[in-house]
Amino acid sequence: MSLANLLDKAATGGRLSFDEGVRLYKDAPLHELGAAANHRRFAMYPTRDVTYVIDTTINYTNVCNVHCTFCAFFRPEKHGEGYTMSHDEVISRVKFAADQGATQIMIQGGVNPEIRIEWFEALFNRVRAEFPNVDIHSLSVSEINGLSKVEGMTPTAVLERLMAAGLKSLPGAGAEILVERVRKRISARKIKPDEWLGIMRDAQKLGMPTTATMMFGSIETLEERIEHLNVMRELQDETHGFTAFIPWYYVPFKTPLRGQESTGLDYLRVLAISRLYLDNFPHLQASWLTPGLKMGQLALFYGCDDMGGTILEERVVTLAGSTNEATRKQLEQLVISAGFNPIVRDTYWNLRPEMALATAS
Ligand code: SF4
Repeated sequence: MSLANLLDKAATGGRLSFDEGVRLYKDAPLHELGAAANHRRFAMYPTRDVTYVIDTTINYTNVCNVHCTFCAFFRPEKHGEGYTMSHDEVISRVKFAADQGATQIMIQGGVNPEIRIEWFEALFNRVRAEFPNVDIHSLSVSEINGLSKVEGMTPTAVLERLMAAGLKSLPGAGAEILVERVRKRISARKIKPDEWLGIMRDAQKLGMPTTATMMFGSIETLEERIEHLNVMRELQDETHGFTAFIPWYYVPFKTPLRGQESTGLDYLRVLAISRLYLDNFPHLQASWLTPGLKMGQLALFYGCDDMGGTILEERVVTLAGSTNEATRKQLEQLVISAGFNPIVRDTYWNLRPEMALATAS
């Protein structure tokens, strides 16, 4: 098939094989790939609405026993710079976010074996009681796996306990590139790709909405990026439990792994191929935290229909060298100046027009 026909197939929703995905990703001119992804995005969502969620990320502990080489955030156990927030500290951050209209919080941290499941249950119960309008979209597959080891429980049992305490949704963090060769090189102590997928499957079978991420730009090949998309697409075929795919690139400045930072063109190419390859994912999110808000704006022309969250507070990526942050107003103005309509959504992608900035401020 010619490249032009392949682009046409992808733009009109045809399922790409692995080889076709690799070929498009490697050979298609960037703007043609972007145009195909943009076509696909408008076929799925004919309006110019772009959603975003008002949220915050609270990194409750930096103590972690996984020691990923791309991570500048964690401290090993007993390290003098290790911290774990008290419940009151977390709650004060939730209050700060809720006062600014947040409907979602992402409580995430290292895999800290000192923290037991009761700590999370008590915290989530408190958040639920004190902030009933805030959804707990929190933890990661790695943290669920860590808890299952500490407690001697299955991941499903951990998830059930946390759901009963108020956990509503599981973020797709910690996937990096779900290829064993890559995991061994950059996060050898982390769970294996099939275990990551297994815990996601468990969460989705319990009825929990989840997202999926890809951290690209470390040591993986372009083919391995498509392999990552492929395993995500396979699980989504089985469960339909992913709401969105969120590719973001690794920031190498202060991490043990180091390396070259990805470029804006790399980012746009990944977005476009993600929109085209992941034909069963409802949403593609512009993760502007590493490439910056202006790249986030361009992402809206490369297949993205969602700007992610306001991320009022975040440390994992910022400690690796990213310096991007946004107010709601900035985020909305970028969307508007790109010719789109910003719309507030919640964790479940319900539109919340009553939370428009003009009436909220
Ligand atoms: S990325 Fe997460 S799991 Fe890996 S070392 Fe950092 S905090 Fe720990």
